Amino acid sequence: MTAQLIDGKVLSQRIRAEVAARAEALAGRGRRPGLAVILVGDDPASAVYVRNKVKACAESGLHSVMEKYDATLSEAVLLERIAALNADATIHGILVQMPVPRQIDPHRVIEAIDPRKDVDGFSVRSAGELFSGLPGLRPATPWGCMKMIESTGVPIRGRHAVVIGRSNTVGKPMALLLLQAHATVTVCHSATPDLKRHVQSADIVVAAVGRRHTVTAGMVKPGATVIDVGTNHDEAGRLCGDVDFETVREALGPRGWISPVPGGVGPMTITMLLANTVQAAETVA
Ligand code: NAP
Repeated sequence: MTAQLIDGKVLSQRIRAEVAARAEALAGRGRRPGLAVILVGDDPASAVYVRNKVKACAESGLHSVMEKYDATLSEAVLLERIAALNADATIHGILVQMPVPRQIDPHRVIEAIDPRKDVDGFSVRSAGELFSGLPGLRPATPWGCMKMIESTGVPIRGRHAVVIGRSNTVGKPMALLLLQAHATVTVCHSATPDLKRHVQSADIVVAAVGRRHTVTAGMVKPGATVIDVGTNHDEAGRLCGDVDFETVREALGPRGWISPVPGGVGPMTITMLLANTVQAAETVA
């Protein structure tokens, strides 16, 4: 018997139905939630992410605008656009698709977004709210991972969680969210000796590295929950995660849980972005 599947598509549909109902309720009061997505440059992957976000807005009854700029756009012009969107009452969330071209400082861009509209949750203020346990807009990917873990019904409190990766956008906020849910958290990274030793003792594993085969069958504890954030490609060009899905699923056994790639964290990330946009619209004074 293999581990049970955490289906990000099914969970997403459930959460998106709730998001759509909240969006409709706001629209009924004359405040349809609105998301502005800014894309600078021609990165094909970024263009796909942006299109998917705009499409998801339409499907859930959110208003959205997409602004696309040439790769030569200056930082000053981008900051002007952000200022205009900050002042636009029909827009409740602003997202600048990363990465931005070299002439633009991503930190300055993120900090220019009105914190109430920071639906990516990447600003220093949003990070501080998460750090301090205050309400706020949480980064969509780790927040989606939390929803996936919660959906299993397996308690988080008192469990040992191992987060592999310490980026500001995934690993670190993930660790804070798990800590807030009363897990005992270990954060591993590229300088961690003997990753296997840590993962073997984990009840919950979140892999956010961007490297295939990071988590293999011999590393996991039977009955553990494994969330795979990684997006990589195999030799045949197929999308895959950081976890050796089939063999790890087998090793986890029937009490274990595992999320696939594709169909796991990916759909949840967009869903939680929509949830953040609705939350931002709900909290407008
Ligand atoms: P990132 O900024 O490159 O961070 C990767 C992290 O992995 C770093 O902290 C790095 O450690 C650590 N790492 C690298 N090699 C390692 C090793 N051998 N053992 C242990 N840790 C190691 O990437 P990210 O933005 O966090 O994203 C991680 C992955 O998730 C990527 O594949 C990305 O595409 C994917 N992702 C998916 C979604 C989604 O919606 N599905 C969203 C976001 C990200 P150091 O800090 O020491 O360098």
